[in-house]
Amino acid sequence: MGQQTPRAGAVAAPGATGDHQSGARRKIFEPADADSELTKSILIQKNQKLEEEMLCPVCIDQKREFVFMCGHSLCEVCTSSIDDCPMCRQPILKKIKMY
Ligand SMILES: [Zn+2]
Ligand SMILES: [Zn+2]
Repeated sequence: MGQQTPRAGAVAAPGATGDHQSGARRKIFEPADADSELTKSILIQKNQKLEEEMLCPVCIDQKREFVFMCGHSLCEVCTSSIDDCPMCRQPILKKIKMY
């Protein structure tokens, strides 16, 4: 019965209710959000494909880092363990680092 809780937060309440209404209006933009999410997933799919093309065709684990005179490219690990190109069997005379 002697409970007297000072409610300082109650003073800010009227302003908060006004905010609530404008928040409901923002829901109009939701369809556009869903559309951009679709484009985003397509972009991610494209990115995954691109990354796959960047991967070494021998171990399919590391990124290609060296390109040979034949035009093929492998990762650093595979490049150091081979003497000729596993794709066209051309001897690797030169290893050119990509980047
Ligand atoms: Zn490799
Ligand atoms: Zn080759």
